[in-house]
Amino acid sequence: MNLELFAETYAVYTRVSTGGQEDNTSPEGQYEACKRYGETQGWKLMENGWYHDTISGTKKGIDRKMLAELYDLIEAKTIKHVVFKRVDRVGREAAIIKEIIKMVYSLGGKVSIADKGRTYKNFRECNNDIRFESVVAEIERDNIVEKNWEGRISQFKKGSALGKQPYGYITAFDDSKSRKFRLVKIVTSEAEALMDFLKKFVETRSIKEAVDYAASKGYKTRSGHPFAHHFFRDTLKNLELYNGKPVKQEYSFFEEVFSREFVYPQIISDELYYQIREATRLKSKADREYFDGVRPYLGIVFCSHCGSRAGIRYKSKATPKKNGEVYSSFIVFCPSHAKEVQKTYRLEGKGSGKECGKSFRYGEITKSILQFLDDASRLGTAEQYSKELLRVLIALRDIQFQIKKAVALRDNASNRKDSILKKLDKLMELEGVDISSFIAANSENLKSIEEQIRQSNSHISELKRNYNSVTEILEMSGLKVTEELLSSIEVNRRSIAKEESYSGDDVRNRRNKIEERLLLDILPETVKSLANELSEGLGKIRGLVEMEEWETVNTLLYRLGIRVYVNFNEPLRNGKLPEIALAVALAESADRVGAVAGLLAERTPETVCGQNTTKGHALKNIPMLREALNARGVPVQTPDAGEEGRLL
Ligand SMILES: [Zn+2]
Repeated sequence: MNLELFAETYAVYTRVSTGGQEDNTSPEGQYEACKRYGETQGWKLMENGWYHDTISGTKKGIDRKMLAELYDLIEAKTIKHVVFKRVDRVGREAAIIKEIIKMVYSLGGKVSIADKGRTYKNFRECNNDIRFESVVAEIERDNIVEKNWEGRISQFKKGSALGKQPYGYITAFDDSKSRKFRLVKIVTSEAEALMDFLKKFVETRSIKEAVDYAASKGYKTRSGHPFAHHFFRDTLKNLELYNGKPVKQEYSFFEEVFSREFVYPQIISDELYYQIREATRLKSKADREYFDGVRPYLGIVFCSHCGSRAGIRYKSKATPKKNGEVYSSFIVFCPSHAKEVQKTYRLEGKGSGKECGKSFRYGEITKSILQFLDDASRLGTAEQYSKELLRVLIALRDIQFQIKKAVALRDNASNRKDSILKKLDKLMELEGVDISSFIAANSENLKSIEEQIRQSNSHISELKRNYNSVTEILEMSGLKVTEELLSSIEVNRRSIAKEESYSGDDVRNRRNKIEERLLLDILPETVKSLANELSEGLGKIRGLVEMEEWETVNTLLYRLGIRVYVNFNEPLRNGKLPEIALAVALAESADRVGAVAGLLAERTPETVCGQNTTKGHALKNIPMLREALNARGVPVQTPDAGEEGRLL
């Protein structure tokens, strides 16, 4: 290698920063000045010896691509001299400038600063001489930064576009304003692709289908990738912006934050905007509520406030957990709430409604059920459970009796009514007979009979409802209720009553004693086998709940008659737990029915008939009779509107 030649070879290093550039520092200007300096020294410019970086003056030498190449050239002894125009072209931070010149000397090169007309012998000489300029370069940098920021903030406030634009937009300089003011314009091809893509989503409500469609049309993002799921998500984030709605933008300079409302040119029409929003809402709701398995506790939870059978809804959160799993749960709710909301919406135009508006996670129900099963010792054995079943059967038999009794009472009353009306008919057939005295004598009686019939009818239907619901419960539990089964209970009951003497006991005590013996002695086989089957299942419930075997859990709980009553109307404050009550509906129904039956047994016909609460004279409600009375000069008017008129 020619050392003499090496000693006289130089390269030029120029630099401009990334942010706007000060005057008189164009790369060409720097290069020319450096080249002139080298020529005056009699050096030889290395072939292609211009090395330029567009980089901040605060970046280290090794982080600057071209400067790093120069380092290699010095080390390889290809060049000796590196010429900079000014100290601030070396760097804009004293420490960085020092690091760079140190590196040049340590590799065996020399630094020249063209504007100072100097080439330095060694690092120390260079460092001493450029100390002042280094500090100036650093101070200037701060000024430049501030000046640049001031300029940018001022443009920001005037409404110039900011940084990178969302898909569909591009910036352009506005000739009518200052050179740095940038306008936002729509990129027609991008806007069309975007709308086509979104319309496909509205149509299919499926991101996947929209993405596939975009791929088939060859749509690409600005970086050349096909539209993907995250492109859709980004678009949704900017939906308002695309619709021409003002969006908030911020620009911060250290602690100072400037904000403005910015309106982008509208790409998406209002109609499409609302269609997308609705499609997104429906899609995410459907995604989060879609569940094709068996829901826990379906059919056994009821609203204790309104009596509705509760609904169980699958719900998952839109945002997943940190580990990517989806938060999901089953929500127990009262369906009558939704109905009420719909009604207020119909009537008042707004969907408010407080009734039964609470909902709970199913975990609350699990806790209560497991607690209940632990406590429910009476259900612990097959024998106890079968006693429970038998108790219900006895109550059912009682209801049957009460129905017969009430029917007889009603028939008796209607017979009496018929006979009075027949007499009246006969009197009316006779000419010249004054029927007003007959009516006067019988009207009270007739009124009372009529009330008896009404009340009997309502009792009969209540008893029949009870009978049907208890029968239904028993049959759902797997026990077939037959007339044979009921009469075998009745036969046994009678024989027990005959065998034993209950003198001195009142009716209720006597009945309880008979029932006790029935339960101990006579358990029909059907009841026994059912009870065995169910008590086995009972022991497994906890494990089944833990394993989320909902189908089996639901069936077992249902057949065991376990019902959960939740108060969906009770407001939950301060972490209060929902009011949950559990009952074995078999026993509960038996108690309820027993109470009704007991009450009826103690009632005399008078109390069953109760008070006449109707207004006005019942007879005047029969049009034919009314006309007849009127024809005979007895003034009878049609019932007033609003009066509780009834037909006999
Ligand atoms: Zn309710």
